[in-house]
Amino acid sequence: MSDAVTRSCPVCETDRDFYATARTTVHLGEKWKFRCPECSYTFVRIDSIETA
Ligand SMILES: [Zn+2]
Repeated sequence: MSDAVTRSCPVCETDRDFYATARTTVHLGEKWKFRCPECSYTFVRIDSIETA
């Protein structure tokens, strides 16, 4: 998985290039934390499955 991902940001209301700020290995797989460079909105993804 790349350390950057393009997706829509609910705060900016447009597509942003989110970048990974942290990557840890958990029992479910690899846990990634991505952050919007514009507004600092973050989301977490575990093995490509996005969590709330
Ligand atoms: Zn944003």
